Amino acid sequence: MAVRIESRRVVVNALTVDVEDYFQVWALAPYIPRHKWDHTPCRVERNVDLILQLLDESDSRATFFTLGWVAERYPELVRRIASAGHEVASHGYAHLRADELAREAFFADILLAKSILQDLLGSEVKGYRAPNFSIGAGNAWAYECIAEAGYEYSSSVYPIRHDHYGVPDAPRFKHHSPLGLPEIPISTVRLMNRNWPAGGGGYFRLMPYAMSRWLIRRVNEVEEQPAIFYFHPWELDPGQPRVPGIDSKTRFRHYLNLHQTEHRLRQLLADFRWGRIDKVFLEGEVV
Ligand SMILES: [Zn+2]
Repeated sequence: MAVRIESRRVVVNALTVDVEDYFQVWALAPYIPRHKWDHTPCRVERNVDLILQLLDESDSRATFFTLGWVAERYPELVRRIASAGHEVASHGYAHLRADELAREAFFADILLAKSILQDLLGSEVKGYRAPNFSIGAGNAWAYECIAEAGYEYSSSVYPIRHDHYGVPDAPRFKHHSPLGLPEIPISTVRLMNRNWPAGGGGYFRLMPYAMSRWLIRRVNEVEEQPAIFYFHPWELDPGQPRVPGIDSKTRFRHYLNLHQTEHRLRQLLADFRWGRIDKVFLEGEVV
């Protein structure tokens, strides 16, 4: 008797990395002001190289939202990201929140980052992610700037309730801004009448790994959508210098379970198939 093999579509999810260093995190801004960045020991190159190794070992691809500030200092790192088959996208130049900038200053920041990355790579940069997911109803004009600067999509919203970011009533899946620019929000799961974070950030370090896996599976199997997940290079680096004098909430959030992230990321890479945002969400990549 012939064995019927049912063909089953494998979902490819989008993995994203916000390429910035530990001292550029918004919550640490009061302790390490911008003018000290150039005199603070960097760890970003070491940490991104580790990520590239993990992705290579698992045959995964990702989108790297890279700060212009980092690209200027580590051009070879950006070229290594691209030559390994990953998508290089923009995280702006100086990690400035979109909701704290005037329109002209925001436009100048995202245009500068795009031109630095494109000059480096010799190819078009399509994606932009606002620092701290800082685009919401109060600054929807930002989408006009993103389109005007020549970007083809944004991934700048995490539809959850959080004290530093998040728009809990924003659409949970890919949608178009009034100008037609695609916005691809970080994944959430809708349960008990609220949105729960399913796409990483500090929650990946806070929750047991099995919870992250359950949430992503739910996005794939119940919602029937590809998931989009994000993390930072410094989250894999328990050896990063400790910033002195920071408040207890920031200290807890920043340093929690750093030593577990690499192991959890290896599990995440083994349990799901991962690709670049442009392939997954603009071209509909499946295996
Ligand atoms: Zn960032």
